[in-house]
Amino acid sequence: MGWKSLDAMDFAGKTALVRVDINVPIENGRVSDATRIKAVLPTIRHIAAAGGKVVLLAHFGRPKGKVVPEMSLAQVRPALEAALGHPVGFAEDCIGLPAKRVIAAMMPGDVTLLENTRFHPGEEKNDPELAAALAALGEVYVNDAFSAAHRAHASTEAIAHLLPACAGRLMEAELKALEAALGQPERPVVAIVGGAKVSTKLELLGNLVGRVDHLVIGGGMANTFLAAQGKPVGTSLCEHDLAETARTILARAQETGCQIHLPVDLVVAHEFRENAPHQVVTDCPADAMILDAGPQSVAAIKLVFDTARTLIWNGPLGAFEIAPFDAATNAVARHAAERTRAGGLISVAGGGDTVAALNRAGIAQDFTYISTAGGAFLEWMEGKVLPGVAALEG
Ligand code: AMP
Repeated sequence: MGWKSLDAMDFAGKTALVRVDINVPIENGRVSDATRIKAVLPTIRHIAAAGGKVVLLAHFGRPKGKVVPEMSLAQVRPALEAALGHPVGFAEDCIGLPAKRVIAAMMPGDVTLLENTRFHPGEEKNDPELAAALAALGEVYVNDAFSAAHRAHASTEAIAHLLPACAGRLMEAELKALEAALGQPERPVVAIVGGAKVSTKLELLGNLVGRVDHLVIGGGMANTFLAAQGKPVGTSLCEHDLAETARTILARAQETGCQIHLPVDLVVAHEFRENAPHQVVTDCPADAMILDAGPQSVAAIKLVFDTARTLIWNGPLGAFEIAPFDAATNAVARHAAERTRAGGLISVAGGGDTVAALNRAGIAQDFTYISTAGGAFLEWMEGKVLPGVAALEG
């Protein structure tokens, strides 16, 4: 943990450039989900209360280095003001005179939002000149955008080398939770990797087999492993061309002493739709597809949870969007939540579909930590260095 937190910085009378991720969904010109805005309020409030001027740097959409009016952060400003309960200033450019003018008029405790950093081509190129122009606006840099930390951009990476820098509260919470789950975890550690395809999670599986004690493989990607072991998968989603890769992962797990758990029974149906007629089998019929793990598989996973101290979860165990193929995901999630509530388990989960699945199971609030970052969470699980975090470490 080589980074500093807000507590280590003096904000009184200073202008703090705070990188946030407020890339929120907009419907009919209004923010439809303010979760990301609410998540950065503690950092904004801390700096404002400490007498700092809060200048927010953020991206919105993918304007690809051009000014695209539909991707202006001006449309996020009202939701930010509502969440904060305080007016928020706005500058029509994130650098140069427009930004300087607005910042010069700020009082300690004020908050200003600068226009989309990605309107400048230098942002995604991690351009030193853009970073210098941004850094010239303030005296302290705070990164509270963990979900953008896997990208080396001017406002997430280069700028951190130019000013005294620290992590905001959300970044701090993410890093602490991830460190507890995979850095220096309490053992045994169990990881669940589910979801559609092995091909999108190869690096993840490769990293985890060397680091966790139990690896539960579920969802569509389990089919690829079952097929690689010579088991029938019928018409299931399956990447047959990755059979060799799957066998290599299984062999590596044997070397590292990581116990792999594949489904031992399967819920199969003839079509991918809600309430499709289904049955529980051990061998998938040739004309059926696997859509969920069966009750015996769920029982086996629960047993693993009963001895584990740490759980890290990415990806559903089945086609969780369509009942009843959400049953295994729900049952396992509920058990993890129970063990967490009882103080037996540290449970960390992340990734878009995983958060949706845990919300659907109604237990997300019982997990120790749910990461709101998709790509950054996955890259962290893959064992990659996140440039935005590394830059804070000096
Ligand atoms: P991912 O984005 O890789 O985490 O994958 C999540 C998606 O995998 C969800 O949309 C699930 O419906 C899908 N999925 C999980 N299990 C299966 C399965 N057995 N067959 C087809 N799709 C699945």
